[in-house]
Amino acid sequence: MSLLKLLQETIDQSGPISMAEYMQLCLGHPEYGYYITRDPIGKKGDFTTAPEISQLFGEMLGLWIANQWMEDGKPKPFNLVEFGPGRGTLMADMLRATKHVPEFHQYVSVQMVETSPILKAKQQEALSAYDFISWHESIDTALKPNPTYIVANEFFDALPVRQFCFTDKGWREIKVGLKSKDELQLQQQPCLPPSIPIKAPKSGDVLEISPVSTNIMQALAHHTASYGGSGVIIDYGYTMHAYGDTVQAVKDHEYTSIINNPGECDLTAHVNFAALKESALREKIEFYYLCSQKEFLETIGIEIRANALKESASDSQKRDIDKALERLLGDDQMGRLFQCFTFGNKLGS
Ligand code: SAH
Repeated sequence: MSLLKLLQETIDQSGPISMAEYMQLCLGHPEYGYYITRDPIGKKGDFTTAPEISQLFGEMLGLWIANQWMEDGKPKPFNLVEFGPGRGTLMADMLRATKHVPEFHQYVSVQMVETSPILKAKQQEALSAYDFISWHESIDTALKPNPTYIVANEFFDALPVRQFCFTDKGWREIKVGLKSKDELQLQQQPCLPPSIPIKAPKSGDVLEISPVSTNIMQALAHHTASYGGSGVIIDYGYTMHAYGDTVQAVKDHEYTSIINNPGECDLTAHVNFAALKESALREKIEFYYLCSQKEFLETIGIEIRANALKESASDSQKRDIDKALERLLGDDQMGRLFQCFTFGNKLGS
């Protein structure tokens, strides 16, 4: 059996499946899912992420969280929750950077939300020095009734989206069906018109919606509104509602077809930060800010940290630090495509 075979059987029996169902099966199927069967991150994998580029990224996020916690009056005990923690690099860098923040490690309890057994094992290895970490497969068991600080880097892009296309005959949902016995094909099916948050579409416009993402976002906002705390969500995406087909597949650092080799490629969609923000604002959020990764990292002082690191670095290490900064902040690199949504609530307010 393979994922392709399983998809063929499913489609044969019940008809084409939505893009969201397809993404969910390709990424998360308990036996054949992309994340379940491999560690895809890094040079030898399919894609690289900010924490794998430089320790500066995780250190800055750790210091931002510690600062939030201190401004909240150091509530104790408190939670630090990471969604989709990859190889555990980001959390390891955050914890190293906060080691000397008085009482932080004494009162923190860390929850890692991860569905991949392979990545969970990597995280456990990376974080074996700490005894305050627990693992959870879903948000349902991860959120504890204490002030909570949340981090998610490149997590929301892995969550499923449904796709709708506006045609001369009205709205159609884009689904994955069968072209032949062993070939998948994108198909358009009549559907109820989706509710559109933007101007009227023209023929060919594609609308993506991700109820899973907006539900998780609202649950996170609700939690910080109830117990205090804050969160930072970073991903590639757009900050205003827009039409566009953003579902993409990547293998070996190259784009590839989304329907070839199901379960063998990373399948993502750009994150609609406007929709995330609106979900968060349905709860009693005290502050929020949406900006580019560049603006966020610069505002919280990444350059000062980089200069401090350079003081004790060799010439080649200095060059590496500059290269990493360019990748994280560059307008044509991660600086502008990646967005950062921060939100939170003071305890009891
Ligand atoms: N944050 C990491 C990894 C990003 S890759 C980094 O920046 O390097 C996406 C991560 O989300 C992986 O750890 C993957 O296993 C996890 N993931 C994907 N879908 C998930 C889901 N539905 N629930 C929890 N984790 C998920």
